[in-house]
Amino acid sequence: MISYYGYSDASGEYYIAIDSNKCNACQKCVTQCPQNALQIIPMFIDLDDKPVVTVKENQCNKIRYICTQQCNPEKNQTKCTTTCPTQAITCHFTQTTTSTSSTFN
Ligand code: SF4
Ligand code: SF4
Repeated sequence: MISYYGYSDASGEYYIAIDSNKCNACQKCVTQCPQNALQIIPMFIDLDDKPVVTVKENQCNKIRYICTQQCNPEKNQTKCTTTCPTQAITCHFTQTTTSTSSTFN
């Protein structure tokens, strides 16, 4: 199962995708994140609680600004993705000229 954390606005779309099937809860991304934006929590998957990484709830609506302060998602230079041994976490950034406003997590 892939979970998405982020939003889109007039400047573009930014979100972090986490594949719970690939995440082994090793915490490498959590310890490498310079903004302390990630956490490991139990998630109910396939009739069981499985520890997986998520974006902290209070960081979701500002995650793009958090990530661009010390990482560089525009150039695929993000500490969480480069440190993940299973490619379970990815950051996506697209610029747009259309004006949209929505949130999702
Ligand atoms: S992109 Fe950087 S700041 Fe954002 S969650 Fe990953 S490691 Fe943390
Ligand atoms: S580094 Fe990858 S496998 Fe480890 S907790 Fe983070 S997303 Fe999961």
